[in-house]
Amino acid sequence: MKEVLTAPFMVEMIRIVTNMYAHGWDERNGGNVSLLLEESEIREYLDPGAVLRTVPTGFSAPSLDGKYFLVTGTGKYFKNVQYAPEVNLGVVRLTGGGAAAELLWGFADGGTFTSEFPAHMMSHAVRLSVDPANRVVMHCHPDNLLAMTYVHDLDERAFTRTLWQMETECIVVFPEGVNVLPWMLCGTNEIGEATAEKMKTARLVIWAQHGIYGAGRGLDETFGLIETAEKAAGIYMKIAHLPWKQTITDDMLHQLERRFGVKAREGYLS
Ligand SMILES: [Zn+2]
Repeated sequence: MKEVLTAPFMVEMIRIVTNMYAHGWDERNGGNVSLLLEESEIREYLDPGAVLRTVPTGFSAPSLDGKYFLVTGTGKYFKNVQYAPEVNLGVVRLTGGGAAAELLWGFADGGTFTSEFPAHMMSHAVRLSVDPANRVVMHCHPDNLLAMTYVHDLDERAFTRTLWQMETECIVVFPEGVNVLPWMLCGTNEIGEATAEKMKTARLVIWAQHGIYGAGRGLDETFGLIETAEKAAGIYMKIAHLPWKQTITDDMLHQLERRFGVKAREGYLS
């Protein structure tokens, strides 16, 4: 067996969560990331038959039965992942229709997966039904997106249009827009189900007064998606209280659609 800490998926995960912390998106134990792995990716590094322990998940996700995930741990600090990945990360395989997770590696201090595991797994199930190449669900607390949920209307069309107007590349990066959930209690199956429902139509779901969920085909892509929305929100928070002299108009957004071959969410542009 090769050393699992040298596996490309492990190296990339450690780099991404370290970078998320460096961006200030994951204070204390904030944030969580899950990466879907193929059995063929892990076989060189881990024995799929060697289960360390089995942990109930408290939900059902039949479409994910037998699937492997590299996931961050509950109560763990992203800033520590690079120094003790085997404590702060784990590789699990869902079993029993998603009702339990078998630990194959990690959480070496007896810990377990993120408390937001329901939202992650339900979101994976939905995104895979929309895009079979989806691999990542990422949650964090970026300052400006969070700030925007205090001062901006939470209407999804209005919120999306504002972000598109704040930076030219936004409509190219997330033409489907962002979906928004009102404040809800986190860590529950209810917010998991609500997030997954929102993931049917967008890869970005804002949790008002809390943070954001992103989904994508890879760690870099998902990070970049959140990074772009957060950048736009930062511009908004800089200018929202100032008189605007000009903005990105719907005509300009239509030009971007044509130039980059993307289609804005139906009904979001006039
Ligand atoms: Zn959070």
